[in-house]
Amino acid sequence: MSSRKNWRPATKLIHSGTTRSQFGETSEALYLTQGYLYESAESAEARFKGEEDGYIYSRYANPTVSMFEQRMCDMEGAEDARAMASGMAAVHSAIACQAKAGDHIVAAKALFGSCRWIVETLMPQYGVEFTLVDGKDMNAWKNAVRPNTSIFFLESPTNPTLELVDIQAVADLAHENNAVLIVDNVFATPMYQRPMELGADIVMYSTTKHIDGQGRCLGGIVLGTEEWINEKLHEFFRHTGPSMSPFNAWNFLKGLETLPVRVTQQTASAGKIAEHLALQKSITKMIYPGHESHPQAEIAKKQMSGGSTMICFEVEGGKSSAFKFINALETIQISNNLGDAKSLITHPATTTHKNLSDEDRAEVGITDGTLRLSVGLEHQDDLLEDIQMALDCIS
Ligand SMILES: *Cc1c(COP(=O)(O)O)cnc(C)c1O
Repeated sequence: MSSRKNWRPATKLIHSGTTRSQFGETSEALYLTQGYLYESAESAEARFKGEEDGYIYSRYANPTVSMFEQRMCDMEGAEDARAMASGMAAVHSAIACQAKAGDHIVAAKALFGSCRWIVETLMPQYGVEFTLVDGKDMNAWKNAVRPNTSIFFLESPTNPTLELVDIQAVADLAHENNAVLIVDNVFATPMYQRPMELGADIVMYSTTKHIDGQGRCLGGIVLGTEEWINEKLHEFFRHTGPSMSPFNAWNFLKGLETLPVRVTQQTASAGKIAEHLALQKSITKMIYPGHESHPQAEIAKKQMSGGSTMICFEVEGGKSSAFKFINALETIQISNNLGDAKSLITHPATTTHKNLSDEDRAEVGITDGTLRLSVGLEHQDDLLEDIQMALDCIS
């Protein structure tokens, strides 16, 4: 298997984890198989006992999926990983495999909608308590700790308001309390933030987003130490079956090869668009982690090595103005997805975050005028012209 620790990220994303069949294919092979054959009954017995290496069943492991897991481990600096069918399968597995009745989870309020549902609605059904805090406020994290706190969970930058959480500070707090920190690193991408280097114990991704990058496959991954995966995740994963399809893993391997060029280009365009939006009178708020106006620019500098492909901004005039703006766009399209080669815009209050109460929405900073833009790979001048046209429509 190709693997070299001192490769730079772009090289790891092309070569790490590759295994080749007897044909010596250039591109990673797609092993579209459910099962595997054994040379003999003795061999089958040995494999089931764990005395012989080899694949058993693709719910547990598959060669194409293994290549993807290994490449992600090398990129992230993680010891082990399990790829999953979606980002939500990854979040659910990372939490459910270790939380026991009587445990307590502390999580940031500003979480991806379904993540919040798992913490607030699903886990309490199994006797797991929770406290949601303002992720920006370290005192709120500290005050939420209870003797039974076992999991800290956060996302940074957050969706959709691109607020940051000090990952290192929360990791230290978790460890002082014998708890683990899970970080959802989707918005930062593996290019711009390495939560494990900041002390996170478990990192997860929806690979549906930038890792695919071209809007094709759903997927997720959970990365952690070998010990945590062996002791907590492995059996849960084998028996509950959230496994990633080999076809999707093959797409994600291809996606990783181009991740740096895509994310770099999308970030460069996003930076330009953010600058432009910051100057507009009809834009009452603009949040971009790479812009000096970001309220937590210090934390951005400390834990992120790049800006973002995402921009959050508020148009003057509330919902009707926001709708008018996005309906006027021609190149940028309306979608709740993100991280795509196509630029996509969302009105969170009526779509991705419509299930939050008005109060909860206000608390995480989403107003009726808030828009979330995922910047794609179109020529940046086409995007700027499109935005200018929409701005002209509302002013
Ligand atoms: C999309 C997303 C998820 C869920 O991933 P799916 O692949 O859609 O299941 C979780 N967290 C964040 C931050 C996301 O953007």
